[in-house]
Amino acid sequence: MKVEMKDIVELSKARWFVYAWSEIYGWLANSWDYGPYGSLLKENIKNLWIKEFVQKKDDMMLLDSSILLNPKVWVASWHVWWFSDPLIDDKNTNERFRADKLLEDLIEKLWNNALNHLQSTYWVNNLVPESWPLEKQTEVMRGEKVKNPNSGKEGNWTEAKKFNLMFKTFQWVTEDSTATVYMRPETAQWIFVDFPNVLRTSRRKIPFGVAQVGKAFRNEITPGNFIFRTREFEQMEIEYFCEPGKDLETHATWKADCKNFLVNTLSLKEENLRLRDHEADELSHYSNATTDIEYKFPFGWWELRWVADRTDFDLKAHMSESKQDMSYFDPVNNKKYVPYVIEPSVGLNRLFLTVIADAYTVEWEWEETRTYLKLDPKVAPIKVWVLPVVKKIGEDAKKVYKQLAEEFMCEYDEVWTIGKRYARFDEIGTPFCVTIDSSNFELGNVTVRFRDSMEQEIVAISELNEFLRKKMK
Ligand code: ATP
Repeated sequence: MKVEMKDIVELSKARWFVYAWSEIYGWLANSWDYGPYGSLLKENIKNLWIKEFVQKKDDMMLLDSSILLNPKVWVASWHVWWFSDPLIDDKNTNERFRADKLLEDLIEKLWNNALNHLQSTYWVNNLVPESWPLEKQTEVMRGEKVKNPNSGKEGNWTEAKKFNLMFKTFQWVTEDSTATVYMRPETAQWIFVDFPNVLRTSRRKIPFGVAQVGKAFRNEITPGNFIFRTREFEQMEIEYFCEPGKDLETHATWKADCKNFLVNTLSLKEENLRLRDHEADELSHYSNATTDIEYKFPFGWWELRWVADRTDFDLKAHMSESKQDMSYFDPVNNKKYVPYVIEPSVGLNRLFLTVIADAYTVEWEWEETRTYLKLDPKVAPIKVWVLPVVKKIGEDAKKVYKQLAEEFMCEYDEVWTIGKRYARFDEIGTPFCVTIDSSNFELGNVTVRFRDSMEQEIVAISELNEFLRKKMK
């Protein structure tokens, strides 16, 4: 059964994963809050990422930087000039779109014939509109009579122009250019800016890496697809510093590590993932190699994360702007160089959506459909639900709950019939329910029910924690 985006959105809202922001004031479009289960799920993904890439690696450190940085950072990194998307307006409806995204849709429609047709008619040499000059994007939009996706009619397209995605704000009491600061559009830059500090205080030798998780802000032209693209989001980024010349092999290692995390730690289905290496003419001006890891969302294959070899571009840019030496002295080989850097980067919210989409399962059960989230126990927001069969044994059930809550994120529930409760917890992705009834309880036992198979097993209360701990592995 094909899962639609609306199914995922509905379940997320109904089961307290994600809410529309400030609903009582009429909502701010494309802003979302994470409810009780959403917050826990997001936290679990984040902690697993930290465990995998910081705790389990002896060459990685975790840092946390501020959101407002000195504006010179964004001048040095070229964000003030280059951090933009191609904006195009439909003069008929006064709506704004990202030209590159409309052109990607066009390419999908042209399918096998796309490269042939676009090459012979417009002299473009790849199918990555983002890399075409703005004039070319305009020419193809107009020449191909691209439709406005909302009105369904041919758009009356303006020239495509650059639209800077950084949110500006002001510090101090005046609102002039000297007080302008930017909300960070990515978490990575601080890691470069503080590279000399990290080097000095950690006394690390290259290669080593720095990881950071935090909020980023982009004034996206077309946010959408639920939490896939929003203006406020969280990123999990790594800058891994290595010796020039060793960058391509380091890039290959990180590519494999990232895929391994998605498949083996988060248990995403491998057939829903693909790695796409950027073509030479698609690479950013600073990059030696870039790989997008794409996921098959209900709305198509889209970038989930990327792994980029950013060479020494960022450190050199900050050296030039700050006039500080950021080079590294290699004591073993007695040489000095500016390190190259590999950047594996992923949006936490986008990964959250991926985890839910991947776990969303619909099965036929007794001539009815059963919907549940087949979440890996490691990511599931609630690991165990404790439920007395009838309210009057609630006190006994609460004792079991307390015993489990010492170790696992649990919830206790005594409302509704057992069947209805199971259905609800399955939709939240809870892998285990512990049911308490008086006859078993008197013998020192409870029943553990498994979400995926719906099978049940009697377990001694004294061994319950150990039993669940093993099952969670
Ligand atoms: P896109 O092409 O989807 O806008 P991007 O290539 O600009 O993304 P990067 O700058 O590479 O994105 O950011 C690294 C990661 O941060 C992305 O792979 C994605 O997971 C996440 N990300 C970027 N922009 C957003 C956003 N507006 N909302 C949610 N996540 C985002």
